[in-house]
Amino acid sequence: MTRGVTRLAPSPTGALHLGNARTFLATWALARSNGWRIVLRVEDLDTPRVKPGVIDLTIDLLSWLGIDWDEGPYIQSADRDEHARAMRRLAAAGLVYPCAMSRTEIEAAASAPQEGSGEVRFPASLRPPSRPREFDDACPSWRFVVEEEAVVRFDDLFAGPQAIRPASSIGDFIVWTRRDPAKPGQAAYQLAVVVDDARHGVTHVVRGDDLLDSAARQATLIHALGMGPQPTYCHLPLVRGEDGKRLAKRHGDTRLDMYRAAGVTPQRVIGLVASWCGMLPSPRPMDAREFLATFDLNRIPREPITFTAADDRWLRARPPA
Ligand code: GLU
Repeated sequence: MTRGVTRLAPSPTGALHLGNARTFLATWALARSNGWRIVLRVEDLDTPRVKPGVIDLTIDLLSWLGIDWDEGPYIQSADRDEHARAMRRLAAAGLVYPCAMSRTEIEAAASAPQEGSGEVRFPASLRPPSRPREFDDACPSWRFVVEEEAVVRFDDLFAGPQAIRPASSIGDFIVWTRRDPAKPGQAAYQLAVVVDDARHGVTHVVRGDDLLDSAARQATLIHALGMGPQPTYCHLPLVRGEDGKRLAKRHGDTRLDMYRAAGVTPQRVIGLVASWCGMLPSPRPMDAREFLATFDLNRIPREPITFTAADDRWLRARPPA
């Protein structure tokens, strides 16, 4: 049997927070307990906010948690040629088209935005009548043609059987953008992830379930590019604040480098993540080795994970002298 491959794919938008710590610890433990190879890939595309030093900080924080990997780091923005090659193939097959419509224009012309996702559905009715067969990077963005009736089915390792119809949730989605006319364009997240996962031989994708819907788009692109088979997906419940919303600035500063600077040990962060993963009834300090030995995908609770004020207090508490 060939060896499985997974990836740690942090976006360097402002270092890692506690939700990322959960995802990366779980990915690492699953990989190490199943003998999968781990590729580290920093996803610095599609994020206009990459600040100097943040990539190094992201990598440093993974090591601080005790996470290791076998290959990389690859920096996604260095792989533009591969992404452009995929675009040329999609254009030659008539599967993409240039589109300059703004979000406001699409909203005005089409449906209401999807609840919660922050994305706007792009309906087939807005598609241009013809499609160029050559990719041209001078266009502000390119969309992928989503078949109206296509339903993507897969069996998620954690979330179970899925049947997602991209036309109803997102419609024709963006695969290439050129935000700044003075700079070359770049692959959007959906395309970059597919090309890079295929190049790195990724067989297992572990991440938060905010990307479950994206898996259907990615499976469609994998098929269109002949880059199959599609990986096995494992989407874990997101870490949320006490208001039920995904962890964000409004829940306070949950960045790992902030906790590290405040004297919080990685063992406390890991212990908290272990309790979120159903491995402990309540947090206690734990190192990465013990996390790996105890981790069990089947024990992760099905419901969203909530980061509470008590969790924050526990992280910052000092053991009695
Ligand atoms: N870079 C993405 C993130 O940090 C993860 C994408 C993926 O795992 O496919 O949210």
